[in-house]
Amino acid sequence: MKFGTKAIHAGIEPDPSTGAIMTPIYQTSTYTQEAPGKHKGYEYARTQNPTRSVLERNLAALENGLEGICYSSGLAAMDAVIRLLNPGDEIISTNDLYGGSFRQMTQVHGRYGIKSHFVDMNHLDQIEALINANTRLIWIETPTNPMLNLVDIAAVCQLAAKNGILTCVDNTFASPYLQTPLDLGADIVLHSATKYLGGHSDVILGAVVVKDEKLAKDLHFLQNAVGAVPGPQDCFLILRGIKTLHLRVERACHNAQQIAEHLLQHPKVGKVYYPGFPDHRGHEIAKKQMRLFGGMVSFELKQDQFDKAISVLSNTHLFSLAESLGGVESLIGHPASMTHASIPKAERLKVGLTDTLIRLSVGVEDVSDLIEDLDQALQTV
Ligand SMILES: *Cc1c(COP(=O)(O)O)cnc(C)c1O
Repeated sequence: MKFGTKAIHAGIEPDPSTGAIMTPIYQTSTYTQEAPGKHKGYEYARTQNPTRSVLERNLAALENGLEGICYSSGLAAMDAVIRLLNPGDEIISTNDLYGGSFRQMTQVHGRYGIKSHFVDMNHLDQIEALINANTRLIWIETPTNPMLNLVDIAAVCQLAAKNGILTCVDNTFASPYLQTPLDLGADIVLHSATKYLGGHSDVILGAVVVKDEKLAKDLHFLQNAVGAVPGPQDCFLILRGIKTLHLRVERACHNAQQIAEHLLQHPKVGKVYYPGFPDHRGHEIAKKQMRLFGGMVSFELKQDQFDKAISVLSNTHLFSLAESLGGVESLIGHPASMTHASIPKAERLKVGLTDTLIRLSVGVEDVSDLIEDLDQALQTV
């Protein structure tokens, strides 16, 4: 089955009790038993919920995995993955990781004796230099936020496998429509379903998909034992969002490419970061592992002054000023004062994150209106 068909049908059957074509929201905490221990496979809703099970099967199909396991948020999903480790174990991760992931690794799991290292994953030798007997997990994120750096998933996973190390790929920015890391050798793929999978900025949910039975069993155990499960209504909303995932992502990518090309020749705009540009640092990797180049674009202003960026950000009307990404509506953000404000300026500059760097999550509106909106905001500079 091809992707668009899987998005709509995989793992989804009409409701057996009524024939309802859409998966019902099973808003229940428990299930009656005919006799003690005699039930229909559902005992208590932390452990199993039919709405959640359908979403988990659908996600497994989209990522070409064996099982999906859903959590109350992307960070709860990450917490479950890291709980596979023991005190003393080490993680190697990218140096421009999503801020929330960095915070969890360093400030939460670090306290329980799990040490994380952060490197530029474009240099395999830097990863190799950090591998030791305690290395249990390599955590990949690609493309990254907001510099849109790419990591060669197959190359890093090959290195990890050679050393008996688990790999997890945060696939939030690409979505399974653009990239399926399990096919490239990853053990675990993770989503903040809050973003492209949901696609309508109305729900927080996280998921992992694995291809190995033992990993699936361990993650299901943690899902039930820790209890960070999503509610059935949230699962329903993600299932509904996924039905148009391929349409939304394709449109967002085409819009993003046109906007990036427009910005590139704009007199007020300096550097433009888009993986679809042949001179982008990760273009060759993107071409190899992604179907299209994504719906995110970052750019900086020619005049590198903080207040100039604020002027642009305050004057768009269709692009809403907000954190998050992956919804049908376009968003504009300023990493230096929003998502990356806690990082010292000198550190920010090292990775190219200047005071006027602006990040766009391009939605599915008509692209000419989006370009017009950016142009009138850039006029104010
Ligand atoms: C948003 C995000 C997360 C965290 O997901 P939540 O659903 O907000 O908990 C993790 N990774 C990436 C890349 C994200 O963008």
